[in-house]
Amino acid sequence: MLPAVRLISEAAELAARRHNGMARKGRGNEPYINHLAEVANLLARATDGGDAELVAAGWLHDAIEDTETTREELAQRFSDRVAFLVVECTDDMSLPKAERRRRQVVDAPKKSADAKLIKIADKISNIEARIRPNPSSEERADLIEYTDWAEQVVAGCRGGNPYLDEKFDDAVQRARASL
Ligand code: ZN
Repeated sequence: MLPAVRLISEAAELAARRHNGMARKGRGNEPYINHLAEVANLLARATDGGDAELVAAGWLHDAIEDTETTREELAQRFSDRVAFLVVECTDDMSLPKAERRRRQVVDAPKKSADAKLIKIADKISNIEARIRPNPSSEERADLIEYTDWAEQVVAGCRGGNPYLDEKFDDAVQRARASL
């Protein structure tokens, strides 16, 4: 396996290239890579830097879903574990959005312990990006809807890492206070 620093650095570089030009939802259409950096950093903090593959998977967690990246490629360049974690975080994009969201709630408890951590970090990052100073009615509706759904997904993921559980509860509280 690659040494930890290379694993993470190469994951960040691949993520930057593959998501190049994409914007995230919320907060002024920031580059998508900001979302990946937030998720990777939450995971690094949550594990106190002890799990390089998990942080690499954080950088890459949307790569199969949103870009031309395959599980085989990730397994070859990184490791089977990194590839498997990303697959666990990949929605079936051939399904309509409502069904994808429903499945995330149903499937969350069946994920591996590490995939659950990535999912919580993902929801923290996405809620925080949707908290705006003076939200329009559309932004308010989106924040309410996203936060309610994220709570259902995270209910099936929590319990494995107190830091992430607390950060998530914090984000939910700030989201509701901002409305
Ligand atoms: Zn994500």
